[in-house]
Amino acid sequence: MISDNLSRIYKELPSGVALVAVSKFHPVERLMEAYSAGQRLFGENRPQEFAAKVPLMPSDVVWHFIGHLQTNKLRLVLPYASMVQSVDSLHLLDAIDRWCRDNGKVMDILLEFHLGAEESKHGLDEQQIRQALSATREGIRFRGLMGMATNTDDEAVVEQDFARIHSLFLTLQREFPHHHAFDQLSIGMSGDWKIALRHGATMVRIGSDIFGNREY
Ligand SMILES: *Cc1c(COP(=O)(O)O)cnc(C)c1O
Repeated sequence: MISDNLSRIYKELPSGVALVAVSKFHPVERLMEAYSAGQRLFGENRPQEFAAKVPLMPSDVVWHFIGHLQTNKLRLVLPYASMVQSVDSLHLLDAIDRWCRDNGKVMDILLEFHLGAEESKHGLDEQQIRQALSATREGIRFRGLMGMATNTDDEAVVEQDFARIHSLFLTLQREFPHHHAFDQLSIGMSGDWKIALRHGATMVRIGSDIFGNREY
């Protein structure tokens, strides 16, 4: 049961750590089960699916976009998202900034750090992250970092990944104190969120532990 899964997670989540219920690939009826159990923050990773679900859910749902976003899909996402967690290129950052200035909005964003060992994973390296943070942009509020650990059963590798992004996060807070709202570290998914809690997570993004397996 979705509500049982959620209450189990709520019990173990320290106060101050937000739970993003990752509902991609699941129908709105299942999201509503989570909503009825009290969940308000949801994450989706595909623009089309995201835009289709938003109008079907109650208006007090808070939506985070957590997937790769192409600049020709911004209009499907930016009007409804309160945060884009997956800014994985400077080109995308520029495009979000421009869209937001044109539409009188300021978007909360996380810079996605390429953390895991996989080449296939999206994300910025440390130098690109510093480059992003060195300018202020009217349409952007920098809120922190997002990262995905290496996909492995070896907990030591996952620990190392999370320790690395946590340390970068703290360093950036010291280097860029003018980004006052840079206070979110989004790490941890179904397989590794308990490890992420030991490494400074302020947000965990959990899908299958809440909704069960996805059918791709
Ligand atoms: C799918 C997804 C998650 C959740 O994954 P689970 O293993 O199902 O918890 C978290 N973050 C991102 C970016 C995702 O795409």
